[in-house]
Amino acid sequence: MDTTPSGLGLRDADGPTEEWFTDQTTGQRFVKMGDIVFPPRKVWMKTYGCQMNYHDTDRIIDHLKSLNFTQALEVEDADLVLFNTCAVRDLANNKFYSHLGNMKHQKALKKDKLVVGVGGCVAQTEGKELIKKYRHLDFAFGPDTIDSINDMVYRTYAGDSKFFINNWDRSENFSIQTKISHGTPQAFVNIIKGCNKYCTYCIVPYTRGKERSRKLDEVVEDIRRLVKYQGIQEVTLLGQNVNSYGKENGESLAQLILELEKLDGLELIRYTTSHPYDISDDLIKVHGISKKLSKHLHLPVQSGSNTVLKRMNREYTIEHYLDRIAKLKEAQPEIIISTDIIAGFLNETDEEHQDTLKLLDTAKFDFIYSYAYSKRNKTRAARSEDHLTKEIRSARLREIQLHQLDLQAVTREKLVGKTFRILVEGKNTFKDETKWKGRTNCNRIIHFLPSDEDENLQWHWVNVEVTSTTALSCQGKFISDLGKKLIPIQ
Ligand code: SF4
Repeated sequence: MDTTPSGLGLRDADGPTEEWFTDQTTGQRFVKMGDIVFPPRKVWMKTYGCQMNYHDTDRIIDHLKSLNFTQALEVEDADLVLFNTCAVRDLANNKFYSHLGNMKHQKALKKDKLVVGVGGCVAQTEGKELIKKYRHLDFAFGPDTIDSINDMVYRTYAGDSKFFINNWDRSENFSIQTKISHGTPQAFVNIIKGCNKYCTYCIVPYTRGKERSRKLDEVVEDIRRLVKYQGIQEVTLLGQNVNSYGKENGESLAQLILELEKLDGLELIRYTTSHPYDISDDLIKVHGISKKLSKHLHLPVQSGSNTVLKRMNREYTIEHYLDRIAKLKEAQPEIIISTDIIAGFLNETDEEHQDTLKLLDTAKFDFIYSYAYSKRNKTRAARSEDHLTKEIRSARLREIQLHQLDLQAVTREKLVGKTFRILVEGKNTFKDETKWKGRTNCNRIIHFLPSDEDENLQWHWVNVEVTSTTALSCQGKFISDLGKKLIPIQ
């Protein structure tokens, strides 16, 4: 029998310890936590929304290993179902409510043995109502409590359900260790949480709280460990506004990248999400000198109109935005920029909409994510009157998307004949043809046929030449396999 600390986030050092033991008849491993024995169980998680949520899901699954949970691939096999929700997008929100409703049936099939929990941004703002409304929901928890997930699951199995926890983490520093369990060479590393911006349409500051950064030394040590012991070669630094990183500690994203640059074995650094107001000159300089920083930057602009940006409380003008892009391109001529656009913001005029189309022509984004504006409860924008109809919003969104696709087709065409080094992430079969796919340093996906069908190229670095493109995809020709070993990216 081995005895280890509990891993229960809310308990102190004197809390219950876990005791693992093996049933000699079945060979199954059990863990005894306090008075409760946890047999092997399965957790199924559904994640909606941003990369931060996917990162949180990984973390939750890792914590649950201490309570003898492994991941179920199908919801039907699960003993515990957890939803990690997003309050930002309408579509994600609607899907979540429909999935949660379906769980009633699933729970009945399992004769109430299924435990159901809801986490994430919807749980933060609406957890109390969810618990009341959905009788089959056992507990709800906000994003700042995920490191206490084992406490909540323990509490439920101890017979105490129908609770809701949305505490903020009040500790002085934001301090965590990255947990990954996927065995791939790519990792997301959370460096800052919360947001101080209060864009009028956004719910995030109310669901994730004020900005708090991890200390630079802690992040560097965390990533050094991931590179050395878990074979990580590519990291994405995560935060709601990653450009604000370190302000409260007198540190910065630029400094962090320069420190990470020194780690042997780390090949590629990405960061997201950026706010144009906080892209500093120092950070732009780092884009020019770093050998490991991705040559792709996602810089959400949201609108091409200064008056709309003002109504959104975005704190920058289009002139400022274009100045940042120009400086980035001066520092790093190969950099490509993508963006987010909200079509039909509150009372947007046709002239304001035309400004967004003009911006697409000027900025020449590599790709865009675009959405029709939808009201989020509890935001400032939701309290304002709005004269735009759903039809106008949809038409403007379509116009933006079609305009961008035309521009994108031209940009992509210029890639034909060029060779890129990519990290192979997987393969897809389409019309009986199986192709591998990987991502270039600047985040474009290239699909290609291997030279030998039986060859396993998963997580290899390979050189591919782009042979044809459309607005949305790049097809390539395999040139050479560089293997899995670490190869500096030029
Ligand atoms: S910067 Fe604006 S849009 Fe982004 S998370 Fe903060 S409030 Fe929301």
